[in-house]
Parts: sequence; C-alpha cells; structure tokens
Amino acid sequence: MMDFEKIAASRRGFMGLAGAGGAALAFGAGTAQAAKQRTSARILILGAGAGGAAIANRLTERLDGAQITILDGRAQHWYQPGFTLIAAGLRKADYAISSTEQWLPRGITYINEYAAELDPESNRVTTTGGQRIEYDYLIVATGLVLDWDAIEGFDLSMVGPENGVSAHYASPEAAEKSWLALDKFTDEGGVGMFGRPATEMKCAGAPVKICFLAEDIATTKGNRGKCEFVYNAQAQNLFGVPVIHHRVRQIMDERDITYRYQHVLKSIDLGAKTATYALPEGAEVTDKWDFINIVPPQRAPQVIRDSGLSWAERWMDQGWIEVDMQTLRHARYSNVFGIGDINGVPKGKTAASVKFHIPVVEDHLVSEIAGREGTRRYDGYTSCPLITRIGRAMLVEFDYQDNLTPSFPGVIAPLEELWISWLMKEVALKATYNAMLRGRA
Ligand SMILES: Cc1cc2nc3c(=O)[nH]c(=O)nc-3n(C[C@H](O)[C@H](O)[C@H](O)COP(=O)(O)OP(=O)(O)OC[C@H]3O[C@@H](n4cnc5c(N)ncnc54)[C@H](O)[C@@H]3O)c2cc1C
Repeated sequence: MMDFEKIAASRRGFMGLAGAGGAALAFGAGTAQAAKQRTSARILILGAGAGGAAIANRLTERLDGAQITILDGRAQHWYQPGFTLIAAGLRKADYAISSTEQWLPRGITYINEYAAELDPESNRVTTTGGQRIEYDYLIVATGLVLDWDAIEGFDLSMVGPENGVSAHYASPEAAEKSWLALDKFTDEGGVGMFGRPATEMKCAGAPVKICFLAEDIATTKGNRGKCEFVYNAQAQNLFGVPVIHHRVRQIMDERDITYRYQHVLKSIDLGAKTATYALPEGAEVTDKWDFINIVPPQRAPQVIRDSGLSWAERWMDQGWIEVDMQTLRHARYSNVFGIGDINGVPKGKTAASVKFHIPVVEDHLVSEIAGREGTRRYDGYTSCPLITRIGRAMLVEFDYQDNLTPSFPGVIAPLEELWISWLMKEVALKATYNAMLRGRA
C-alpha cells in the first residue's frame, strides 16, 4: 500500500467534516422532503445499483401504498468509483463491495434475478427465473455492459502481474489484480499503454486518472526514467469537454506522457505483447507494451437492446434507451423512465449524474401519480474528480453545453490540481454515494 493513509490521517478533522458534508459537497444539494402521495401503483425498477437503489429509497419516502419491485441478479453492490483507488494500490477489493440488499428500503419486493425479457407494449417483464411481472411504471437502471469480447485476443483471466494486463473496470477483484500488474510495471519499467473505447462510457475520466496515477507511482518509486507512458484517445481530443481536454493535454505535456488521437484498441497478442489500434480510414498500427490497461467498448445490456426501448437512429451499436434528455422519460413509452448509465443522453454516465437523475424521475413519476405535471429538468450535470496524482485532483463538473458547473465557485477551482479535490474523491465521494443510495442526498 502507498503511505497515503498516514498523510490522510493527519488531516482527519477536515476529512470527518468532508465525509459528513460530502453528500452536499460532491453531488450538490439534497432533495427536499414532501408529503406522501397515496397510490396503489405497481412500480418495477430494473437494477439495484447506484440509480436503482437510490430511486427505490426516494419513492418509498414519497409514496404510500405503492407496490415497488426491484430486480437485480447480482447480490453484491459495487461502489465503482472505488475501483480506481483499488487499481492504484490505495484500497483493497473489499472497499468497493457491499450487499445489494443492505441498501434497499423495507416494504419493497427485491427479486435477486435479472430481467430476461421486456415487453413495454404490454407492460410486462420476465425474469431469468421465469417470473412474469406486470407494472404500471417501469424504471430502467440496469447500467451498462462492458464488451470485453470486442477486444480480440483478450479475456479477463489474463488480468494480473504475470501478463502485465490491467482491466480495472471489470470488478473489485480485477481492479486489485490490476494493481499488482501496475505495481510490477512501475518497479521494472517498460512501455505502459492506456486508453479508452470509441463508444460512450461510464466515467470517461477514469482511463486518464489511472494513467496519471501510474505515472505518479513510477515517479514516487524513483523509476520514472525507465517507464514510458502512452495514452490512446478515441477522438481528436483527450476529453470531450474542450476546456478539460486542454488542461489534460497540458498536464500530459508537463509530465512527458505521450498521447495519440484516434487510436482505438482493437486486439492484443499476449504472446508477442503487442496491441493493435484501429486508426481512421481503416488503417492500423501495432505496438509493443509491457503493461496495458484495457477499457472496453460499453453498451446497453442485450435484454434492453432487444426490448424496443433503445434509440432507433442514434448509438445503434450501443443501444442506450430513448429518453428525453431533460425529463428522462421515455420518448415512446410514457410510463417508462431511465436513470443512470443506460440513458441515451449526450452526457451523464457518472454516479454524480445519477444523483441529479433521481430527483427528476422522482418528480415526474410522483407528479403523474398525483395528477400533476412534473417540472424538474436534468441539465446534463456530470462530475468526475479527475485525479492527477496521489493527493491531487481536479473537481471537474460540467453540463450538456460543456459549461463548467463548479459546486464551489470561488472556493474550489475546477481546473487546478488540489488536495481538497482529491479528498472529494478519496473520502467524501463514498459518503456522498452511500447517502445517495439511502435516498438522503
Ligand atoms: C473504474 C470506474 C471509475 C468510476 N469513477 C467514478 C467517479 O469518480 N465518479 C462518479 O461519479 N462515477 C464514477 N464511475 C461511474 C459510476 O460508477 C456509474 O456511472 C454508476 O454506478 C451508474 O449507476 P447505474 O445505476 O446506472 O449503474 P450501476 O451502478 O452499474 O448498477 C446497475 C445495476 O443493474 C444491474 N443489472 C444489469 N442488468 C440487469 C438486468 N437485466 N436486470 C436487472 N438488473 C440488471 C447490475 O447488476 C447492477 O447492479 C466509475 C465507474 C468505473 C467503472
């Protein structure tokens, strides 16, 4: 383990404060309490991750008599923002693991199965165990799937120090094995490859963060001179928001991290230790590596893609659901809403965005049940504490228009590498996230 814990311990007073106030800090202001609405509506939630658990808690607070059912086949809840810390040796795998059930409110029905078939025409879902559930309202919060098979030559069993392969998106355990690979690489040196897929993705800052952390760890170990770092961007920029792209590029220049645009990982050859990248116009390039961090293409789960809820004319290879970008209500099925990564909106695939999806869906659903029209709108809020080294991060927050939307204007500068922004990620974010799951943030 790095000695960050010791440094952090010396600031415990502040951290305690940050933890307690974290919910209001990193994810913005809380949701106001309102009187309970009486109803017998049947509400089905698909997925009990960040979005599903949070909306189940909120609706339980707001509705009296609703029959709420939540489906999720994974009994473990994963705190995914923690994966980056695990992959940098700052936490163990269990930091990100809890039980799904512990976050769910009393009085709802939890079925530990996945949705296997969706029929939005007849308002029915069939589970992997064959149960048929009818609903009045459906909330899709399944998150996304990581398409590892799209990287030719790769499978998850390759992750670890023996092969120099890292895949910290996969699971808490894979993130821990990824750390062992990174630890070895930053001891022994060589070429480290990083990058992101060409699809939409959750936490688009995470591939950059792990690259910055790796470079910092090599420097701290005194081994920077024998390590080369290469970051492969899928587009003609390093981050989709121009002002953040410029700042990331500046930091990469300062730290001698090579970056390449329009390089999309296509395949790896473990024996030869090479990776092939697709370039524009059908060209390819093959490079040697000693360490590689793989972040695969990301898509809606197949069951969603088969359901008729996906966009027909956008993101066709990805299948995100066709919701209104402000109300998060489905464009064709008005009793269906989306929360979280599954939404086909131009931004917002972060846990911090989920925090801002929740009150919008809550408002429109509860209002409809009460015979009113909902008024809340999602503005694209996305946030990513962009770690630049251990103990430093930039708290970047932005909206659909690529405006920076800092939670603390004049206090925390979004494009400066600050200790306080690091604390937001390292300490406050988990407290915030947990409060959100409980419906309190
Ligand atoms: C490495 C990494 C770093 C990240 N860092 C940050 C960060 O710093 N800040 C931040 O805000 N966000 C971060 N994120 C992103 C954040 O974790 C996600 O955006 C967030 O979890 C999305 O919530 P969700 O509810 O949409 O999906 P999830 O939390 O993934 O939950 C989806 C749930 O749906 C379930 N499910 C899937 N299919 C079905 C089905 N067919 N039926 C029923 N249930 C189903 C799954 O089992 C899962 O439990 C990071 C993610 C990763 C991987």
